[in-house]
Amino acid sequence: MKKTPNRISLAEAARRTGALMRHGDPVPGAAAEQPRLEDITECLFFSPGDGRIWLNDQRMVLMHSRSLGTLRRELIDALGLDRARGLLTRAGYASGARDAQLVRERWPDAELVPTFLAGTRLHALEGVVRVVPVAFEIDPDRGHYFGEFLWEHSMEDDEHIHAYGLGTEPACWMQTGYATGYVTGLMGQLVIFREVECRTTGSAQCRVIGRTADAWGDVSDDLRHLQTHDFPGHALVPTPPTAVLGSGALGGDADEPMVGVSSAFKAACHMLHRVAPTKAAVLFTGESGVGKEMFANMLHRISPRREQPFVAVNCAAVPETLIESELFGVERGAFTGASVARAGRFERAAGGTLFLDEIGTLSLTSQGKLLRALQQGEIERVGGTRTLKLDVRVIAATNVDLRAAVKAGQFREDLLYRLDVYPIHLPPLRERREDIPLLMSHFLQYYSRLHGRPVAGYAPRAVKMLLGYAFPGNIRELQNMVERGVISTEAGGVIDLPHLLRREQLDAGVLLSLSRTGVLRQAEPEAVAPPPAGTTPLLDRLAEPGEPGVRPAEIEQQLIAEAIERAKGNLSAAARLLGITRAKLAYRLQQAGQRPAAGSRQAAGSSAATSGRR
Ligand SMILES: [Zn+2]
Repeated sequence: MKKTPNRISLAEAARRTGALMRHGDPVPGAAAEQPRLEDITECLFFSPGDGRIWLNDQRMVLMHSRSLGTLRRELIDALGLDRARGLLTRAGYASGARDAQLVRERWPDAELVPTFLAGTRLHALEGVVRVVPVAFEIDPDRGHYFGEFLWEHSMEDDEHIHAYGLGTEPACWMQTGYATGYVTGLMGQLVIFREVECRTTGSAQCRVIGRTADAWGDVSDDLRHLQTHDFPGHALVPTPPTAVLGSGALGGDADEPMVGVSSAFKAACHMLHRVAPTKAAVLFTGESGVGKEMFANMLHRISPRREQPFVAVNCAAVPETLIESELFGVERGAFTGASVARAGRFERAAGGTLFLDEIGTLSLTSQGKLLRALQQGEIERVGGTRTLKLDVRVIAATNVDLRAAVKAGQFREDLLYRLDVYPIHLPPLRERREDIPLLMSHFLQYYSRLHGRPVAGYAPRAVKMLLGYAFPGNIRELQNMVERGVISTEAGGVIDLPHLLRREQLDAGVLLSLSRTGVLRQAEPEAVAPPPAGTTPLLDRLAEPGEPGVRPAEIEQQLIAEAIERAKGNLSAAARLLGITRAKLAYRLQQAGQRPAAGSRQAAGSSAATSGRR
């Protein structure tokens, strides 16, 4: 993206959105203006034969706004104004974030201003509202955004007024959620929209203003509507990783919110909310870095046991020979070196919650002892004779498939049933991409404060990379990247790509592997990328009927050989050049009798290049 003017005039903004374009006006045709209203309209496909409508690659639905109004009214009546508002704001946010993704991917080379203003056109195309820009300033280099827009014919106002008549509070909740989601999705920084005038309160039209969270000052009220659940007495929050074993109890910083608006995140929060008041065992599953510890901690904090201890043990971090005494404690003289009696984690968690992380790493012997403790609700210290009756809620987490471990004879089935009463799966970050901008914003603020280094925001190409990256290390990887970014950036500067990536990632071509859409191909093994420009002539030849003297199979072999050559033997990179997945490339090679040597040079590629979803 090219350097953008900090401020564009109202007329210019209006021209660019097409909002004030009338019949007979010259149509702005320059590529620099894309995506124009007609470009966006071209993305809408009706496919009545198979019952689907598409906006680019996203399925849409044409629904009577009156029926949406009925749903809205029932939500308000059932849940109360405030909760209904939160729900609708988040639904709007998700929709705005998806549209931002669409624009980023469909017009990767569009200039900054048209990219931002495309949201106003999409909102109009989707039949929600007509948007007229009043003022618009954007400067990604300083992390600055300001937008003021008028909304005409707002659908939500129509329905709200139809149901309740005029009121005293603005009612365009989904729409402000949409604007927040769209702009946040592009900025990678929380930009909050507020409706300062609304037709529902008697104005002729609605007026909304968007600013960054920093510029607004106190945004707790806005955040309340963006967050999933009001965990009573606690803000919702992902805390930076805590030394689990060392501290014994996870402190968890209650001042920071658990961040997320994606449906996957909301589903997990919903389950957490349901099970928290009970005594049921909970098993968190999910890849490393998805926040299992944080969820476990939150489960405790919203449970009736919140005043009692929360004790965490990372089973993988305790040597096998010590795990039993660590969990159950030791009596004096139980073994050499046990000169004093010591309480174990179970005892220290009495009345509260015991969190066993990486439960899959326990040996079968330890599993047996744990099972006994769970079945009988009592423990015996190592070397002791008396049994202690304990009331402890046990929650566990694993990043391995315990059912597969059971089949392989590595995990006790009876213990699995004890632990797996209420499983909660935490999705990997790449499956909750809508949350990435919120997390980026959250970690930016957190680490700026922690390291005393004010940072203005993210450079556009850094945003693009982060939003499309596969994040094999999940939230923790994002968190580390942002922390590294904050530390490497000059005070007051913006975080750019070299600040985020490690040397070896740069060397391994993570940058080069960015496709035109900014999406790292290895992140989506199923997605077939268009072939890059360098290989098209051959592909064109392949497509030509009757190309003399060359059989398609030969062309394929030649293409593959060329790509592997060019990628210096790195199969993942070669697959990207060919626009196919690594798995497909491996299959083709196998078919052709060129099985890739195990541990060949592809292993030297970046972890990002090889650790995508298999
Ligand atoms: Zn309104």
